[in-house]
Amino acid sequence: MEYISTRGQVAPLGFIDAILMGLADDGGLLVPMAVPQVDAATLQAWGKLTYAELALEIFTLYIGDEIPKDELQRLVEDSYGTFRDADVTPVRRINNGLYVLELFHGPTFAFKDIALQFLGNLYAYVSKQTNSIIHILGATSGDTGASAIEGVRGKEGIRICILHPSGKVSKVQELQMTTVDDANVLNLAVDGTFDDCQRIIKELFADVAFKHKYHLRAINSINIARILAQTVYYFYAYLQLAQQGQSERMNFSVPTGNFGDIFAGYLAKRMGLPIGKLILATNENNILERFVNEGVYQPGEFRGTHSPSMDIQVASNFERYLYYLYGEDPVEVSRLMGQFTTEGSIVIPSDRIGQVQADFAAYGVKNDECLDTIGDYFAKYDYLLDPHTACGVAASDRLTEEGEVTVALSTAHPAKFDESIRLRGIEQTYPEQIGALFGKPQHQKQVGGSNAAIKAELERFF
Ligand SMILES: *Cc1c(COP(=O)(O)O)cnc(C)c1O
Repeated sequence: MEYISTRGQVAPLGFIDAILMGLADDGGLLVPMAVPQVDAATLQAWGKLTYAELALEIFTLYIGDEIPKDELQRLVEDSYGTFRDADVTPVRRINNGLYVLELFHGPTFAFKDIALQFLGNLYAYVSKQTNSIIHILGATSGDTGASAIEGVRGKEGIRICILHPSGKVSKVQELQMTTVDDANVLNLAVDGTFDDCQRIIKELFADVAFKHKYHLRAINSINIARILAQTVYYFYAYLQLAQQGQSERMNFSVPTGNFGDIFAGYLAKRMGLPIGKLILATNENNILERFVNEGVYQPGEFRGTHSPSMDIQVASNFERYLYYLYGEDPVEVSRLMGQFTTEGSIVIPSDRIGQVQADFAAYGVKNDECLDTIGDYFAKYDYLLDPHTACGVAASDRLTEEGEVTVALSTAHPAKFDESIRLRGIEQTYPEQIGALFGKPQHQKQVGGSNAAIKAELERFF
């Protein structure tokens, strides 16, 4: 399988080179040259596979023989062997119409572990194969940082620097990142929002001389490996429910910020997974909801919410969807992204909005509605949703009808967002791994939000 850029100016690359490139050198995002197709017979044959076996099958479609099968199998087993649940991503029944796909059983209690445990092991493999140091640079709205750090801490041949918006991540998220004391980890607390952090990273990666000097590598969801790893659980959830005799077409409801997780669902659908509605749930930072419902992609005012990992105005994976929406035409994508840079918005012609609305249903959840959903589901079903998951569940409640079956993706364990959950008077006990973080010494450096300040820190660290 080869990978090409959404903007068409990068010669086709193999899988490993695509992972290493992260953001495409022409400013676009890498996508597979052709989306592999999974037919009904294959899908049925996959029904009895474990999570790791299924992941191996799906990755093989995208990697071919670039990584020898036994090596790839070892990478997959190492990545998912760290999960606390034997099913890796178990599905829980809430009621006849709603299931929750728990994606938070990895080391940092958020769904990011599913992709980043794998990517961390992949980077360690590449470092060893090429005998070179890998410098990872990433920005986080909270969960990616902890998860990426956990994926590579102490690993030989890898250094990692993570930017987070100072004071704008939850306490547990901050502790998970900053209590790591391995020498290959640097945490920078940046004055600014997550969008500022993400923009700085994007600009540093676009500075090709700087990127090449340090062999900078990405862990943000612009990295195609993350998207691929996330397609697996859509298949796995579908297969688990199919095994249980569920024959309705399943909707998936996905709390999204950077369009990463929902794009993985879109890709699974393009691969042939028979998904019903793909529900795009946002919080009050609702650029994606407005895009689906009105056809205008334009950042609004930043809002702090109970689901900070979705407090995002510019969704970095959105360009991948545009690419498919415009029939895989890199000229059109370049034009639209150019327009976004110069005019600050993209407007989709009305004849194309129909396609967008066939691909997604969207709903933006208000802060109170998010908390009410947590309170209601706790009272009614004795199931505690984290605020991100609650956005997906609230959107599903809005956008589905009696008789439909929806799988709501649960992207974090509620213990990560206790500050918000307490607002509804709910007390929870922390899992012991989270409780143990409090009181540990923290390691982070406060920095201003300019590219120059960040560059100076990186030059010192790398
Ligand atoms: C990152 C994250 C999201 C959003 O994922 P995207 O890939 O940005 O769509 C949702 N919930 C949680 C808990 C997250 O950490």
